[in-house]
Amino acid sequence: MFLAMNCPRCASEMKEHTLDAHMARTVVVDVCTPCQSLWLDVRENLQLTPGATLALFRVIGEQVAKPQRTGADTAKCPRCRGRLRKTQDMQRATKFEYLRCPNGHGRLMTFFDFLKEKDFVRPLTPHQVAELRKNIQTVNCSNCGAAIDLAHGSVCAHCGSPLSMLDLDQAETLVAQLREADRPGKPVDPALPLALARARREAEEAFAGLPKDDLWLEENLSFGLVGAGLTALVRLLKRES
Ligand SMILES: [Zn+2]
Ligand SMILES: [Zn+2]
Ligand SMILES: [Zn+2]
Repeated sequence: MFLAMNCPRCASEMKEHTLDAHMARTVVVDVCTPCQSLWLDVRENLQLTPGATLALFRVIGEQVAKPQRTGADTAKCPRCRGRLRKTQDMQRATKFEYLRCPNGHGRLMTFFDFLKEKDFVRPLTPHQVAELRKNIQTVNCSNCGAAIDLAHGSVCAHCGSPLSMLDLDQAETLVAQLREADRPGKPVDPALPLALARARREAEEAFAGLPKDDLWLEENLSFGLVGAGLTALVRLLKRES
């Protein structure tokens, strides 16, 4: 019997998700909603196919909430109890970080850092920040949940993250990869590109003034812009499927 894992960061019970990987294998990812983190065993991140990445993306989108994190980084590896070490890495021009087991058992990442690693997040342009400022005063940081006062800039005063949004270009690339390479014999949902196009339009409308009859941004702004984009995308993916 495999016991549910407790989150190394906040001790909440994590939820296990099984995703398809290469060579008809599966990978198991443990997800913590309260602190918006996930645990990947060491090799599992490498085995994530485009399909598995999209599935995980969907899992994250369904769990998205304002992160509740403690400041203390005393997290221990769930396998060996070794103290996890903070590690910084780069994906193209994007820095991200995670906590890594010193004995190589795996790593704990926040949703936000996972999305950064997969190139799904980009900082707002100065123009987008200006558009946003016309409509709202504060927005929550997608990394730490702190309120960012737009009158005082677009960088979180608490954790230093720039105000960021979901990059739907990368979601489209992923769907294109899915169509070409992944899982022969299993057709890709033909509605996916349409859902992505709609999510992109909704996300872009947010910067052209808050749509009066569409509350998605207002409803979800407390999760930060990345969370709001994810929520919109997952809702659309569900509606189409
Ligand atoms: Zn947690
Ligand atoms: Zn370990
Ligand atoms: Zn922050």
